[in-house]
Amino acid sequence: MKDTIVLYPAFGSGHLMSMVELGKLILTHNPSFSIKILILTPPNKNNINDSTSQYISSISSKFPTINFHYIPSISFTFTLPPHLQTLELSPRSNHHVEHIIQSIAKTSNLKAIILDFLNYSATQVTYNLEIPTYFYYTSGASLLSLFLNFPTFHKNATIAVKDYSIHTPIELPGLPRLSKDDYPDEGKDPASPSYQVLLQSAKTLRESDGIIVNTFDAIERKAIKALRDGLCVPDGITPSIFCIGPVVSVSASSEKDENGCLSWLDSQPSQSVVFLSFGSMGRFSKAQLHEIAIGLEKSEQRFLWVVRGDLELDDVSLEELLPEGFLERTKEKGLVVRNWASQGAILRHDSVGGFVTHCGWNSVLEAVCEGVPMITWPLYAEQKLNRVILVQEKKIALELNESKNGFVSGIELGERVKELMEAEKGKEIRDTILKMKKSAKEARGGGGSSLVDLKMLGDSWQEHASWNSLSPNS
Ligand code: UDP
Repeated sequence: MKDTIVLYPAFGSGHLMSMVELGKLILTHNPSFSIKILILTPPNKNNINDSTSQYISSISSKFPTINFHYIPSISFTFTLPPHLQTLELSPRSNHHVEHIIQSIAKTSNLKAIILDFLNYSATQVTYNLEIPTYFYYTSGASLLSLFLNFPTFHKNATIAVKDYSIHTPIELPGLPRLSKDDYPDEGKDPASPSYQVLLQSAKTLRESDGIIVNTFDAIERKAIKALRDGLCVPDGITPSIFCIGPVVSVSASSEKDENGCLSWLDSQPSQSVVFLSFGSMGRFSKAQLHEIAIGLEKSEQRFLWVVRGDLELDDVSLEELLPEGFLERTKEKGLVVRNWASQGAILRHDSVGGFVTHCGWNSVLEAVCEGVPMITWPLYAEQKLNRVILVQEKKIALELNESKNGFVSGIELGERVKELMEAEKGKEIRDTILKMKKSAKEARGGGGSSLVDLKMLGDSWQEHASWNSLSPNS
């Protein structure tokens, strides 16, 4: 029977792809292991969508020791926004998860389970069964340091962050001084459901056997040190922290040039194009899309823009969505695609010289790995915290000034894009991110810090007896 690690990604293809990359990495360093990945099926549906199932087939055929187990669909309707939906789906799926784990343990030496941190409610199964439980934290160490500290912060708080003045500094171990605006919205109001979820999940993470973080020393040195020094859990014990990044996902379609982006980039000069893409969930109103278009035209730079309007705009054509004549006027300089593009392959292309990003952690790591300087436009989750790290601490991005409700004017966007692509400040940022790219490569190379942590992780699994040999039920 093979030593086996079970991976349990959160709901959604982005989470799945990150976990698959982790699985591939584990196999690189422990080739005799087998990896079993649990897949959450959307509620009220019999199947996952076509592109996810194609992705799974391609992984299965390339990596025979990675197997997928589908968790049966549950009947209910989501009430949370997309980036939090797994919080509703995962607890409802626990009985299926337990059943699948029991059946896996009948045919393999189950060494550990790795949960996406958003699937923390699965610990009701894994802690109960006493299976060694690790978390995969797909955001950076900065958010993790805030998150592990959260129960202490909550206990000591005399006033909720939502009631802070904008000038009240928030001082937390491992982080630069934050303002109320930088702090994740989900943690501002103790009366909100998301606050309670955050609190509960942070307590659960504190009890785990270890936390695997997709980061590396050079990009988050202070936060990693604070975590390892135990400063973020002053009233308890910090689990082992394994920083194994940067791990970037390779989607099945990443080399296919589905909407002509790569061939268009082939015809552009080196480092001349600014790329705009806002993660898997970033959406904009028609008014905001108009301002982006105005800004791009004013910047006079070449651009590749992935346009995604608010949900109700999905059926509106690009011509109607953007200012009149924009597509025609900019056709020599710009390419506009709808909803989705192969971001990884685009960032790898030599013609791309800048990236306007929503600061999702995967996007940040992808840009760092390719040495592409950024302009920050955070939209949701922890993205404003990431902005502080990128702009103030690491100086690998320019900040975009937004109005109080998050609206960005075309003039502001145009000026920042021009600054990044043409001005001295942009050049400094490019030089700094190229050094960061080198450090990222070193972290993952022979003897690098991420490899050292991966080895420690493998060793920690070897120390655990296989779970089925402990379980009276198997
Ligand atoms: N992505 C992509 N094409 C798009 C938008 C996003 O390939 O048009 C990929 C991107 O490369 C990244 C992931 O989707 O790997 C988004 O993850 P991130 O953490 O940046 O943001 P999230 O979607 O979780 O907010």
